[in-house]
Amino acid sequence: MPVYSHSQLSMYEECPLRYKVSYRDRIRRDIEGIEAFLGSRVHETLQKCYDDLKYTKLNSLSELLAYFNKLWQENWHDAVAITRPGVTVEHYRTLGERLIENYYRRYAPFDSDITIGTEIRFNFWLDEDGKYRIQGKVDRLSRTDDGTYQIHEYKTSAYLPPQQQADEDRQLGLYYIGVQRRWPHVENIRLVWHYLAHDVELVSYRTPEAVTSLIESTKSLIDEMEAAVEFPPKESPWCDWCEYLDLCPRTKHFVKVEALPLNEYLEEPGVKLVNKYASLKAQKKEVEAEMEKVREALVEYARREGVEVIKGSDCKATVKLKKELKFPRKSDIERSQLDAVIKSAGRWEEVSQLDTAALKHVVEDRLWSSDLIEEIMKYGRLEVKDEVRISKLKDGEM
Ligand code: SF4
Repeated sequence: MPVYSHSQLSMYEECPLRYKVSYRDRIRRDIEGIEAFLGSRVHETLQKCYDDLKYTKLNSLSELLAYFNKLWQENWHDAVAITRPGVTVEHYRTLGERLIENYYRRYAPFDSDITIGTEIRFNFWLDEDGKYRIQGKVDRLSRTDDGTYQIHEYKTSAYLPPQQQADEDRQLGLYYIGVQRRWPHVENIRLVWHYLAHDVELVSYRTPEAVTSLIESTKSLIDEMEAAVEFPPKESPWCDWCEYLDLCPRTKHFVKVEALPLNEYLEEPGVKLVNKYASLKAQKKEVEAEMEKVREALVEYARREGVEVIKGSDCKATVKLKKELKFPRKSDIERSQLDAVIKSAGRWEEVSQLDTAALKHVVEDRLWSSDLIEEIMKYGRLEVKDEVRISKLKDGEM
């Protein structure tokens, strides 16, 4: 039975293809974003801070900064990637020092609670039937004087989420369940996020109802992941940190042509086709605009002259002025009133029909039971449609 972590679940939600390549195909890459590199070094430094305290050693700030810089040098490798233009390695290293300094100045001498452990691994069943297994790692777990257990999470990103996001956070919510399972006697559990860049602490709790709802939503996400047969790429700002650009159909052509010298780049068949298609499309747009003007002129001419057929040199144009009956669309306010009139007259069945667009949405998002969707899919079929869109490259797009 597979074991799921919050990172796996999130990656699937953010981009099913990236999840598949990383967790199902297990394709590993050396590349590491500098934000992740920085986060690891800060976590290791704070881990040392609390691990040494267990042996009564209180590190000074300068000792911790020296440890951070030692880790930075020892772990540095050539595949650490910086995506933010104009920001250097030194900027990130200095940022790491500042995050540790912020934390130190706020919490030293670190005696407001007792550390139970750092980097504690959890592995537990979400359900009693042993179908849904979760694993995770808590940055630090502590206990306060009143017996409250605190789950601490260090955040090194520049983003400070709203309180509501903390209250709905799945990662620490799952760790909450992990602590409950391991120590059922614990009555109070507090979730604490340390946003180091902002020197802000966010705190949240979970009610029994919130825990039940989290278990149910996580189980249904795992069901969806296990039933998935397609793993489409989903573009988002996360693509900047994706290690599979060379495998993703949305980006691999960029990777392929990026390294080519200009003369070879312009001769690459894909580049040539796109350039030709874009140029023809621009011409088509001009021609269509011109055609529309001439069409309007023909209609106006037919109306003015009272003719339906207009002779040219070797062709003719037939102009029909048709009257078309229109009713309110689904989105119009009067539509529900119209529906009500027909329904109350008992004639609804004669004019209503299945909304296949809505049905497609139900099946794709698996909104109904698996049995019903399976039954419906006996009548559905997957057709491959092709579509080519041309758009301008954005600034900084590879
Ligand atoms: S580049 Fe973006 S869309 Fe492609 S796999 Fe990576 S995250 Fe997904």
